[in-house]
Amino acid sequence: MSVYKAPLRDMRFVLNEVFEVSRLWAQLPGLAEVIDEETAAAILEEAGNISTDIIAPLLRSGDEQGCTWNDGEVSTPDGFPAAYRAFAEGGWGGVGGDPEFGGMGMPKAISAQIEEMVNSANLSFGLYPMLTAGACLALKAHASQELKERYLPNMYAGTWTGSMCLTEAHAGTDLGLIRTKAEPQADGSYTIRGSKIFISGGEHDLSENIIHLVLAKLPGAPAGAKGISLFLVPKVLVNADGSLGDRNALSCGSIEHKMGIKASATCVMNFDGATGWIVDAPNKGLAAMFTMMNYERLGVGIQGLAQGERSYQNAVEYARERIQSRAPTGPQESEKAADPIIVHPDVRRMLLTMKALNEGGRAFSSYVALQLDTAKYSEDETARTRAQELVALLTPVAKAFLTDMGLETTLHGQMVLGGHGYIREWGQEQLVRDVRITQIYEGTNGIQSLDLAGRKIVGSGGALYRLFASEIRHFTANDCADLGEFTQPLNAAVDTLDELTAWLLDRAQNNPNEIGAASVEYLHVFGYTAYAYMWARMAKAAMDKQAEDDFYASKMGTARFYFARVLPRIHSLSASVKAGSDSLYLLDAAQF
Ligand SMILES: Cc1cc2nc3c(=O)[nH]c(=O)nc-3n(C[C@H](O)[C@H](O)[C@H](O)COP(=O)(O)OP(=O)(O)OC[C@H]3O[C@@H](n4cnc5c(N)ncnc54)[C@H](O)[C@@H]3O)c2cc1C
Repeated sequence: MSVYKAPLRDMRFVLNEVFEVSRLWAQLPGLAEVIDEETAAAILEEAGNISTDIIAPLLRSGDEQGCTWNDGEVSTPDGFPAAYRAFAEGGWGGVGGDPEFGGMGMPKAISAQIEEMVNSANLSFGLYPMLTAGACLALKAHASQELKERYLPNMYAGTWTGSMCLTEAHAGTDLGLIRTKAEPQADGSYTIRGSKIFISGGEHDLSENIIHLVLAKLPGAPAGAKGISLFLVPKVLVNADGSLGDRNALSCGSIEHKMGIKASATCVMNFDGATGWIVDAPNKGLAAMFTMMNYERLGVGIQGLAQGERSYQNAVEYARERIQSRAPTGPQESEKAADPIIVHPDVRRMLLTMKALNEGGRAFSSYVALQLDTAKYSEDETARTRAQELVALLTPVAKAFLTDMGLETTLHGQMVLGGHGYIREWGQEQLVRDVRITQIYEGTNGIQSLDLAGRKIVGSGGALYRLFASEIRHFTANDCADLGEFTQPLNAAVDTLDELTAWLLDRAQNNPNEIGAASVEYLHVFGYTAYAYMWARMAKAAMDKQAEDDFYASKMGTARFYFARVLPRIHSLSASVKAGSDSLYLLDAAQF
């Protein structure tokens, strides 16, 4: 596999030239003091170095060795504990953390880029800090001051990690079915009993303690999702003075053997009367956990992008060197026995599709991150509310579309290498195996699509959709008179999405199956349109500089490719949406 090169130039372009983040940061009180363009560039460069030099070299060996379970103890592959120590000591675990508890207080727009680099380097490795950061966010937002003071500093420091214990054997998507129980104790703690499956980072040898966030039900709790509470359950109990005490009554029963991310420990966790503390009010657990899940959902989307980027870097390097056949227009490198495969139209189609989806995805995930920053830091209530609404609308799109495109790009990257993409030597097959889980965990992409079409679009009567669509219309109408080659097809895509949204709102009133029948294709039309908006904004930022620098010329060429060859996918998707649900119910269960 090629050496991973952090795409710092593109990250700087997106942040500084497309979104002009320093103007936003300067207006936001919590951020103005901690970050500016120069600091951001230095942080990203350092994150690129640790990703390339320390984390990426463990990708292949981690996949081959995997995690091992021995009598309840889990060992990560060789090199992981030392790399994790370097990561934690570098302060990377607390980049986005609250300064009150020892975090660095960096904006999400920065931590999103760091997540991309770490996950491009090694997705299995990236999961451990990602879950910890998500757990910290949930604790910060919902735990008592005492719990925050006791747990957050060590979690930001990376000496303790976090896990998220939702899934049970009979309860995955439908968490209302969980059976784990929590019994209140006289001292204010709770006793937790139950078994969780598929818990990423539930047990490992990277940190001194693991702080599990566990969903469980209190005695007499309402049935279903309304009766779920959230508990903090440490692997090792923490004494009043902050030192580590006895082992808690919980253990890892086994780890899963799986398709990819083999260096991430996926654990069965047994809570056998473990001591825990409630986070937030009784029966409010799912809402509290959603703070963590929303954070993880953008993070999982970024994992998809990260794999696509790594696959693209390998594929481009290979396509420049591998020689096979002559270009259709005649020899391009006649001194060689054949031309490099990058001359062939179909190889260029694959490479450009990858590049267009990756760079569009990077801009889109950064855009969502900027909304998160505005929602968190703005003093203007209207701006805050608007940003929160955009985050609610765009989170399922970010999770599902970035990961669906992540699989597509890794598959293109594998195909660029032909048979060499299928064998282990070149690393492309690992990226395909690793990225697949991103479409499944954190709520399958089918469930994300239902969230978008059902809760966000139909649930708001189309109001959230109109917020985003009107921003795009404002951009095309006001910002870029000389960008017609991009703004016209972008407007046409928004027309299509307007029409589909109206169709969905109308059909959902009469037939409950219509939302679920339309949702995946609807989300994809939404995603391609959102990327078109990103590409129009990138073209605007690059247009006047294309003669100066290859970077901008390449941007403009890729923008043109996106509008010519990728965006038209929305037409067939729209036809599928409008075909409705009838054809899905022509067979009864026995006829399948
Ligand atoms: C490697 C790995 C790591 C994981 N890490 C964690 C973790 O750290 N913590 C944790 O708690 N969980 C974790 N999970 C669990 C993961 O989040 C679940 O597997 C996932 O949410 C789906 O649940 P399920 O497997 O039970 O599938 P099911 O819920 O049984 O779904 C099966 C299929 O039915 C579809 N479906 C279900 N309900 C509906 C519906 N209402 N409408 C339409 N379609 C529906 C789903 O989309 C899916 O296609 C992990 C899983 C894996 C494999």
